[in-house]
Amino acid sequence: MTSIRSKFSNLFPQPIRFGLRRAKHFGFQRRCPACGSRTRRFAPWGNPARQDAICPICLAKEPHRLAALYFDQHPEIFKREGTLVHIAPEPSLAIKLTGLCRRSSMRYISGDIHTPMPDTIDICDLRFEDASIDIIYACHVMMALPDDGPAFDEVFRVLKPGGVALLQVFASPLDYTIEPKTDEERAEDRYLAADPDVYRIYSDSDYCRRLENAGFEVRRFVAGDVDHPDLDRMNVSAEVLHVATKP
Ligand SMILES: [Zn+2]
Repeated sequence: MTSIRSKFSNLFPQPIRFGLRRAKHFGFQRRCPACGSRTRRFAPWGNPARQDAICPICLAKEPHRLAALYFDQHPEIFKREGTLVHIAPEPSLAIKLTGLCRRSSMRYISGDIHTPMPDTIDICDLRFEDASIDIIYACHVMMALPDDGPAFDEVFRVLKPGGVALLQVFASPLDYTIEPKTDEERAEDRYLAADPDVYRIYSDSDYCRRLENAGFEVRRFVAGDVDHPDLDRMNVSAEVLHVATKP
């Protein structure tokens, strides 16, 4: 019954779909910074399921909500007539970033290596000119690359001086990076075995070091940096966003 209902609701344009979901889930206990909705709770997500994880309106998960909060808090990164590249775009943030770019007269480009629509973009071989992009955003892409080195170098190459790379990764509590050398080791690793698309889980310090080795200046953005009356309703306190700026 649920799938029939969701197929039926997908026939509606996105604003109507979101409106129907907002009416159904409305409440004051949770606030999603990606779509701005107020809901009773976030839905469970993952395997095993994390409680209070995903926005029932726009489907933004915890890292997407922290990124949305960062974009709201830092309008200065949106440069008039500039370009933002969104790699492996999540629908929730694609809607938000499209709106923010339109307001700033920025060009919004999105794409993925796996699909030709809306565009094919390979983070390890970017088709953009040197120093031509203002912002690059990608969530959980770096850890899904067999070799992340070319991606760090490519993102650094195409960003303008002062440009910002937001390349989100799992917020790992471990103090070492898990990075098996072979597929066999990866299949046996207790952290990686559950997800065949993940090649490594970075420690926070190692991820900062890899970004710095590529030439970036790195700052960590966390919920504690923000003074917002609804912060406790967003459930983003366990997340970290590494803000990598090209000097
Ligand atoms: Zn939302």
